[in-house]
Amino acid sequence: MEETIKKVMLTGDRPTGRLHIGHYVGSLRRRVELQNEGGFDEMFIMIADTQALTDNAGNPQKVRDNVIEVALDYLSAGIDPSKVTIFVQSRVPQLFEFTSYFMDLVTYSRLIRNPTIKSELDMRGFGESIPTGFLTYPISQASDILMFGTTIVPAGEDQMPMVEQAQEIAHKFNALYGEVFVEPKIMLPETEASRRLPGTDGKAKMSKSLGNCIYLSDDAKTVEKKVMSMFTDPTHLTITDPGHTEGNPVFIYLEAFAKDEHFAKYLPEYKNLDELKAHYERGGLGDVTVKRFLAKVLNDTLDPIRARRHELEKDIAGVYKILEEGSAKAREKAESIAIRARRAMGLNYFENRKLIEKQQKAYNKEHEAAAKLAAYLAQSKK
Ligand code: ATP
Ligand code: MG
Repeated sequence: MEETIKKVMLTGDRPTGRLHIGHYVGSLRRRVELQNEGGFDEMFIMIADTQALTDNAGNPQKVRDNVIEVALDYLSAGIDPSKVTIFVQSRVPQLFEFTSYFMDLVTYSRLIRNPTIKSELDMRGFGESIPTGFLTYPISQASDILMFGTTIVPAGEDQMPMVEQAQEIAHKFNALYGEVFVEPKIMLPETEASRRLPGTDGKAKMSKSLGNCIYLSDDAKTVEKKVMSMFTDPTHLTITDPGHTEGNPVFIYLEAFAKDEHFAKYLPEYKNLDELKAHYERGGLGDVTVKRFLAKVLNDTLDPIRARRHELEKDIAGVYKILEEGSAKAREKAESIAIRARRAMGLNYFENRKLIEKQQKAYNKEHEAAAKLAAYLAQSKK
């Protein structure tokens, strides 16, 4: 009987710092919604410590320390470990076994064509000293995705080339060895603003590595301070000047976070973001008013997340337990797919009775022939 494909979600984050509001709108908020809608058969969230080490080999402490921070961020954002398996990448050895096999299916030129890798290499300025592990992490990430039978990867725009790479590997593996892997699809955030949230400094992407973040765990005062010193429209010098909302990070954040209720609560002069934007573009609306509103909107969103984090921080051992149990469950799932994939590749040496028998028969035949020949020679000597 044809096996029906399960709906499986998998996403992850690198434990290189606490999670920021870019992660929240790019992926985390979606995961919580999907979890609560209950449309998936299985849901996995991975803390990618091995991937984080690819460009942090000299600073393992940073990766180590941030595993718990990312876990706390997940749980405080509303991930429920009874519905979602949260696990640590390095604790699932099957992922690395298949990274090796998948490496044989991807050429070097394909690897360096990956646009996200290209821009990340530029950003990190490795020069001639690119760690091989960093260059090949898209293959390792393909393994993370494929070894869980993932159908949907909710992630930001930068992950599109990674999911494409995983699709190609699945396709090639299946063509060579037989149907084992499901080709995954990316689920991008609905709005442009949430696909790649810019940094508070106006840089294209809010990123832990760039230090231009508002963290989910920042306190209300810090959020306010960061918002008040945000980069805005440089041509909007006085209140009366007409302003630009497009490409203006303050408005992009509002796009990603502000709901009509926020206007009713904090800025009732405007019904919604369209009205606020129109006023800013006309002129006569100052940055300070808009920023104060944004700070309130962000703090309103972050308040319950911070409160939950505060509670969770009282039981760090409990959070590690969730990760330990999640990792055990993840190993079980990955092994169930690994068994099928090894079988397809013929690596199931010890369970392949038919092959063992066939090889035995061939040897028996050889021995028989040799014995016959020996008997004949002995006979003819007489
Ligand atoms: P690093 O600088 O260490 O790479 P990062 O901030 O880029 O960290 P990742 O752990 O690489 O974060 O990304 C985790 C997830 O968050 C991915 O799905 C990614 O698409 C999403 N994401 C990260 N930054 C943003 C952003 N600024 N806007 C939208 N989504 C984002
Ligand atoms: Mg990244």
